[in-house]
Amino acid sequence: MTRALLERRLRYWQKRLKLQEWDIKLHVVPPHASDSDAHSDIDEYHARVVVTLVDPEHLHKAAVAYRDPEFLLVHELLHVRLEPSGVKEDTKEHVAQERGINAIAAALLAGED
Ligand SMILES: [Zn+2]
Repeated sequence: MTRALLERRLRYWQKRLKLQEWDIKLHVVPPHASDSDAHSDIDEYHARVVVTLVDPEHLHKAAVAYRDPEFLLVHELLHVRLEPSGVKEDTKEHVAQERGINAIAAALLAGED
């Protein structure tokens, strides 16, 4: 998936998830520039978010959903949708939230072509 296509999919999902009031920027970075395949910096007060994704060219081609850049994108947008959850990292609530987000992202993408 090219960056231009990823940007188009971002705008599509932004609309579908009713996040139009958010200013969402997409950063595509080389693998060494990020600890994870995807993360987002959410500024809830200003309704701004920067979604950082590792360049899809560098994601492993393994056939697992979480390596799909669009899946990662939807996952991150669901985090925005669910802000503020107040869920702290490294807790069982966080694990449950991540699983829930992954299940919803998979269900949403299963309805796509
Ligand atoms: Zn997550």
